[in-house]
Amino acid sequence: MGNNSWHREYHTHEALMRYAKMLGYGEIHTKIDRKTGLHAIVAIHNTDLGPAIGGCRLHTYGTTGPALKDVLRLAYMMTLKSAISNLPHGGAKAVLIKPKHIKDRKAYFRSFGDFVHQMNGSYITAIDVGTTTEDMDAIAERTPYVIGAAGLHEKEGDPAPHTAKGILRGIQAAIQFKYNKSDLNGIRVAIQGTGHCGGIVAELLAQQGAEITVSDINAEAVQRCLNKIGTQHHHVDPDKIYDVDCDVFAPCAMGGVINLDVINRLKAKIIAGSANNQLAHSKYSELLFKKGILYAPDFVINSGGLINAAMVYDYCDDVIADKQIDKLYDTLLSLFKRGKKESLPTTNVAELMAIEKLTTRKDPIMETVIQRVEHKSILE
Ligand code: NAD
Repeated sequence: MGNNSWHREYHTHEALMRYAKMLGYGEIHTKIDRKTGLHAIVAIHNTDLGPAIGGCRLHTYGTTGPALKDVLRLAYMMTLKSAISNLPHGGAKAVLIKPKHIKDRKAYFRSFGDFVHQMNGSYITAIDVGTTTEDMDAIAERTPYVIGAAGLHEKEGDPAPHTAKGILRGIQAAIQFKYNKSDLNGIRVAIQGTGHCGGIVAELLAQQGAEITVSDINAEAVQRCLNKIGTQHHHVDPDKIYDVDCDVFAPCAMGGVINLDVINRLKAKIIAGSANNQLAHSKYSELLFKKGILYAPDFVINSGGLINAAMVYDYCDDVIADKQIDKLYDTLLSLFKRGKKESLPTTNVAELMAIEKLTTRKDPIMETVIQRVEHKSILE
């Protein structure tokens, strides 16, 4: 469903509530605090598996309709992401409708912290687009239900190494499934973006004997990466990465890169990378499936950072977190196998597998969600 159509379809309150029902909601909480300018919406999609986790996004929205639509969709995705990653957590999200001017940012986030605390731990907040560690610190002054505040959980930190480890495990699963090969020796991987995630993915893959080609719009980032992995590996200009003769294309830069032109240009039979929302349109999931290109759904393969943050929050233990990230291999392998068996695109399978882990899946509402997903995944 393109952006314009959902704006048209979901602009009334009634239509938004219909959308919430279709996704199997859940709770929606709002707070307006005139003193600080806070206008927050928290959507708690599902808490079957435990307290719901989800970032807190600060963004400018013209009206509340799009904000509500955004939070409903994002929280639903967090339920799926947590469930498929076997986390003892549900999914939620907070959207803070950015005012023209935030007079006192600390007071603004303290007020949001009070709001989170009122939910008695059913919602745990975290950093997302537009928010910072300092904002989490302000929230932490009012509630312990926050991930990513300095000092609260010492072992939390940069999620990228954990995300990258998950990408490695996902690529290993894809290679096993597609080529029945249990190692990455000689496997050719083209990586788009050598930033926090892509750079580490390149290092991990090179350590496993893969042949890497990288590209980045930032020449320094490319050089930094090549210095680490060795100059026997290659680099190409950013617009040439789609044409590289390789086995795996790993999008680790921005979203929306998988479009018709790219699908026609790709030589790779596997797409597996860290970028969020990789598909430019829902229809490309089906097309990739038909063309025999194995797509590792982004919200599954890039969940290493979330897994680490949640596990460290729960247990203060990196080792447990690492083991859990390791299991992304099994999750993705069984997802690929099921897609083949049931002739379904991997995005549909991912959504189904996640929903099936929820205890409410037997509810009539979730039953309708499942029936929808079998035909059309909301994540495609
Ligand atoms: P980053 O900003 O550190 O790196 C992105 C890199 O992509 C930069 O070096 C940038 O120069 C490069 N880039 C941008 N446009 C490009 C283009 N057209 N061609 C080639 N390179 C381009 O970000 P990151 O933390 O590495 O995250 C990368 C992607 O993974 C993002 O989509 C992010 O949302 C997603 N992601 C990251 C994490 C994480 O733990 N960091 C977790 C989940 C998802």
